[in-house]
Amino acid sequence: MLDEVLNQIGRRQSFILTSHARPDGDAVGSTLAFAQILRSMGKQASVVLSDGVPAIYGPLPFTDSVLRDTAEAPDAEAAIILECDSVARTRLTGLERHYLINIDHHATARPFAHVNWIDPHASATAEMIFRLAREAGVKISPEVATCLYTAVLTDTGSFCFRGTSEKTFALAQELVRCGADPVRIAHNVYFSTHVSKMRLLGAALSTLQCDGSLAWMQVDRAAMESCQANDADCEGLVNYALAIQGIEVALFFREQLDGRFRISLRSKGRVNVAAVAEAFAGGGHECASGCALDGPLTAALKQLLAQLRAHGYDAQVQ
Ligand code: 5GP
Ligand code: MN
Repeated sequence: MLDEVLNQIGRRQSFILTSHARPDGDAVGSTLAFAQILRSMGKQASVVLSDGVPAIYGPLPFTDSVLRDTAEAPDAEAAIILECDSVARTRLTGLERHYLINIDHHATARPFAHVNWIDPHASATAEMIFRLAREAGVKISPEVATCLYTAVLTDTGSFCFRGTSEKTFALAQELVRCGADPVRIAHNVYFSTHVSKMRLLGAALSTLQCDGSLAWMQVDRAAMESCQANDADCEGLVNYALAIQGIEVALFFREQLDGRFRISLRSKGRVNVAAVAEAFAGGGHECASGCALDGPLTAALKQLLAQLRAHGYDAQVQ
């Protein structure tokens, strides 16, 4: 399928690149890198992300050129959508009229585009973009390597999540060889946390509950306001609940402006949380997924518990 992606790219000159709303490190790093790779191939490429670039990824190269609306982008012959199971997940309008190329590594990926390159074995979409650049004979610049390394580092949970293998380290090594600076990138991602996120972590941890091998915590609108936090500050907080000994599944509930809850699900491996999220029209990976549910929180928790049990969750502390 990589051949077909390159074939379709070869036939066109101008591209829009995008990824999902509330983009994470892989979404940002992979779109920025891919756009630059296309430019190296003599193509025109614009990156459009509906929520822009989260502050934590601001230091990445090329972020200045990121647009937030397709209407601001020059006309393009194709749209390349990374990390999404549908056009809707980009939260952009006007993409459907383009030739669509879908590149994704999620367990819940769907073939919604004209050409679909899906590899659930890839540790990050960045790994696929690296392969594409190699196949196209494009030299990886230090800037592109920085974007791809950031994506791999964050999407593997700092080389901790399942799927991290010899191949992942070989990729990291290659990216460092191409000019990515692992120390500077780690500092930018892990030692540049805004104080609002730290305060929000405190608020979230104060709601922590554990029952058997399940842990959950929440932030409501009042907590967000008192910490002067934004949605991006919630990224990754769920991992603190998963870090607890004996916990197999962790849930993080964020109250949205509309009163619904956005849920981040994490598993240490026994429970497939992608399947659980999919039951509520969400998706993701077997060990990291997300979905949205109506409140109140107790009702949402009950529904999630029923699905967790249906997908291998056992309350017994292992
Ligand atoms: P997070 O909990 O950090 O927002 O998301 C964890 C993983 O699940 C990410 O790979 C993310 O792309 C995916 N994910 C989160 N929410 C959704 C959703 O509503 N739909 C789909 N398809 N994937 C989601
Ligand atoms: Mn990813």
